[in-house]
Amino acid sequence: MKIEDVDVRDIARHYGTPVYVYSLKTLRAAIAEIKTLAPVVRYAMKAESNRVILQEMKKQGIHIDAVSVLEVQRALRAGFDASEVCFTSDVFFHASDAEYCIENNVYTNCGTLGMLREYGETLKRLGKGSNKVSIRINPGEGSGHSKKTNTGGPYSKHGIWHQSLDEARAIAKEYGLIINGVHIHIGSGGDMEHLKRLTGKLVEFAKQFDDVEVINFGGGLPYQYREGQPEADVSAYKPILEERLAILEKHFGRKIRCEIEPGRRFVAGCGYLLGEVRALNHTLDENGKRLDYVLGNIGFCHLLRPMAYGSYHAIQFVGDKMGPEQDVIVAGPVCESGDVLTQENEEPVPRKLPLPNPGDIMVVGGAGAYGFVMSSNYNTQPLLPEVVVDGSKCILARRRQTPRRHPERRRRSVKSRSSKSLFWNMF
Ligand SMILES: *Cc1c(COP(=O)(O)O)cnc(C)c1O
Repeated sequence: MKIEDVDVRDIARHYGTPVYVYSLKTLRAAIAEIKTLAPVVRYAMKAESNRVILQEMKKQGIHIDAVSVLEVQRALRAGFDASEVCFTSDVFFHASDAEYCIENNVYTNCGTLGMLREYGETLKRLGKGSNKVSIRINPGEGSGHSKKTNTGGPYSKHGIWHQSLDEARAIAKEYGLIINGVHIHIGSGGDMEHLKRLTGKLVEFAKQFDDVEVINFGGGLPYQYREGQPEADVSAYKPILEERLAILEKHFGRKIRCEIEPGRRFVAGCGYLLGEVRALNHTLDENGKRLDYVLGNIGFCHLLRPMAYGSYHAIQFVGDKMGPEQDVIVAGPVCESGDVLTQENEEPVPRKLPLPNPGDIMVVGGAGAYGFVMSSNYNTQPLLPEVVVDGSKCILARRRQTPRRHPERRRRSVKSRSSKSLFWNMF
């Protein structure tokens, strides 16, 4: 199996496993598709934020939605201008976030009334900076691939409740803030029907803010993880956004900027997680039926989605002498029974795959979004390297974390307190 022109076995040999690999060609195709949907398209960089991917977004004219100040800084470091970044902190500002955004001219989207007030207070204290802000509204309903990723409605902590917009206006007035942006983001991996319908609601909310210049419909474009199923068609989103925008522009009699900010749909498909099959095992169930386990070196510390959401990811084995297809459960090395790649509703679900041998390569697909970025050091496993493939070329976007200090950092870190930490590289 190849990713663009590079054999996965060569990547595994050269970089070791597990390793995250991204196809630039697939990424570019996704960008081309999404870019046409709205006049301003942001990338919700929390989905996957290695330098090479961010730089490709920048090259293609995509802007950024960041959910932490460190994400903002990572975007600036990758070459974005502050004017291209919007900061949507979830539900509160950490210590000096508001100050950082005001001082660095980063447009800020406030997701609670408290945040709006804190922005106002910080602006007053600093005595300078932009008084234009956006607010994130909870429209009263949401949609996601899992309850955990639904970010609208009464059971979501996100956004200013749609019946409290008077209070938002009062706070803005008190501090001399101009609410020139309105925003919703109703969830991740939901369905197009919800997305389309809620655009109408946002337009109605927007009409209540006389200074509106920007309307942001959020992310949430779905991605089809299952092989052989048609990809969700997002092209119908564009005319709907245009229609909504026309209503708003007519209402105010001026141009309004229309934005969207998907994450998943940009990167899910371009990413793979390569691992190695290390062992086989089996059990017998209550009825004496044999369950075959394929044990690889990919655990939930590397890819959390199956364990966190029961998410499906395509799996392929690459080897010379694989057996015929049969039901197998694919599991990882972490000390917990939940460490299973093929699971649903917290139960292992066998999948028909050719039986591999130890030493064969395993390739997990659809791993580009919420893959590397949700990985952890659980079981003292190092964070994985990230390789971007461009034709026949491999670019190392991130080195594997190592328990030794990196030689380049050695001299500096002797003095710094961080030299005591086991792992050295965060960005
Ligand atoms: C996560 C997030 C997104 C992106 O969601 P996707 O489902 O990946 O498109 C967009 N906006 C905000 C504010 C987010 O937190």
